[in-house]
Amino acid sequence: MSNAAAFSGGYAVNRGPSVEGFLMPATDEEAAPFWQATKEGRLVIQACGNCGRLRHPPRPMCPSCHSTERTWKDMGRNGTVWSYVVPHPPLLEPYSSLAPYNVIVVELDEEPRIRFVGNLVENVDAPLDSLDPSTIRIGEPVEMVFRTLERADGSTEALPFWVRRRN
Ligand SMILES: [Zn+2]
Repeated sequence: MSNAAAFSGGYAVNRGPSVEGFLMPATDEEAAPFWQATKEGRLVIQACGNCGRLRHPPRPMCPSCHSTERTWKDMGRNGTVWSYVVPHPPLLEPYSSLAPYNVIVVELDEEPRIRFVGNLVENVDAPLDSLDPSTIRIGEPVEMVFRTLERADGSTEALPFWVRRRN
């Protein structure tokens, strides 16, 4: 046990990759409400219980007012591509065999200061390389979807992915 972990909101538990070998979140007490919500198909963002400022990833203290009071806010799943990169090997398997794919940075329409790093895919079940990265445009509208992945121990997580908004 490290001293750094003693100051966190609880120890992160890494239960291993998905059965396909994809990285899965190490869950801890602080982020548990976020991962519970994704399993219910909802996006929630941690909010300061004092000044209301939204923050992500979840953490114990507000960067604005230093309050440790915190709540969760249901958020819309619409976002806008802020930036992206196209990874190439060397990469971990199974990512290496799917390259080149895309990694996008998305700002939420409801709160542009909240940004997520993820993958833009053709649909919720499509592989990481399902879209030609050269078609991605900064500023294009996207929507968060949730893909359920299973670990070898049978536990699951619903991971955020992004699809193009068709409206
Ligand atoms: Zn605050």
